[in-house]
Amino acid sequence: MDKILDGKLVADEILEKIKVDLKEYIEKGYRPPGLAAVLIGDNPASKIYVSSKVKTCANLGYYSEKVEMDKNSTMAEVMSVIRNLNEREDIDGILIQLPLPDQLDESMILFSVLPEKDVDGFHPTNLGKLFIDEPNMVPCTPLGIMALLKKYNIELKGKNAVVVGRSRIVGKPLSFLLLRENATVTICHSKTQNLAEITSRADILIAAMGKKAFLSYEHIKDDAVVIDVGINRVTDLDEAKRFYPDSEKRWKSVIEKGSTLVGDVFPPAMKEKSSFYTPVPGGVGPLTIAGLMMNTFLSYTQRLK
Ligand code: NDP
Repeated sequence: MDKILDGKLVADEILEKIKVDLKEYIEKGYRPPGLAAVLIGDNPASKIYVSSKVKTCANLGYYSEKVEMDKNSTMAEVMSVIRNLNEREDIDGILIQLPLPDQLDESMILFSVLPEKDVDGFHPTNLGKLFIDEPNMVPCTPLGIMALLKKYNIELKGKNAVVVGRSRIVGKPLSFLLLRENATVTICHSKTQNLAEITSRADILIAAMGKKAFLSYEHIKDDAVVIDVGINRVTDLDEAKRFYPDSEKRWKSVIEKGSTLVGDVFPPAMKEKSSFYTPVPGGVGPLTIAGLMMNTFLSYTQRLK
């Protein structure tokens, strides 16, 4: 049996379903959903992320708008842009691409987006709804991961789920979603003691730490389901060979393109010990964008009402 949880495949299915649902609205004469992506500064990775989100919007038939702002933008300038987007009828979702330049107050900016247009699910109102078991706009990566687990019929009820990482983007919201599905959830972080002792009891292990291939054989229970959220760049060929002993393609990527990617879990350990796992890339990454498109569509349908 194939052990891979194919995030790309599930993401494509989600997007295809949105396309079909949207067609009905368009045929009834409604406007398309609108997403505005605010990009402040010139972080190359952020530019790539925003371009790929805009491209996905175009494929789905969403209207999208890239608002590019100078890296020296002031709080007043950013707040004014958000105010304007908040007021626009044709914009259903506003995403603020992180990280922000140092002079800007991230929380204040994220919280100034109207909760109903907060398609990243970072506003306290939306996080609070998740906390009280009435989720509406849920952070995109956890939303995508839950869709993946559902698609593959991974049983969560009564299972031990261990989430390594407690960020407000991934770890915390995902923990609440797993709890909602009646998993017994443990959250680990950088101050957790005896990490391997805890993770090796996990039926479902979620790695969201941002630490290259950190979790290994001793951290993974036999036949666990492993969701590897981490995206880390590997530029060293010896390291690439250690992470991917059987993949010349990966080595070639380091030699020819300068890097390959690895998650937070040591790939040979994940392959050997898990019953199912998400690859990097092609696992959680595409689901994050699918989650964003789901949230934008949700906002659209709610706002049309
Ligand atoms: P953050 O840096 O915000 O959080 C990392 C978390 O990991 C923190 O809670 C930290 O603990 C914990 N941590 C760090 N080191 C250890 C350790 N040694 N043992 C246990 N816990 C540890 O990261 P994000 O949540 O934003 O992202 C995590 C990873 O997921 C990154 O690689 C990121 O690139 C990737 N990512 C991928 C996405 C995708 O679409 N595939 C989307 C979003 C993120 P503490 O709180 O104590 O500091």
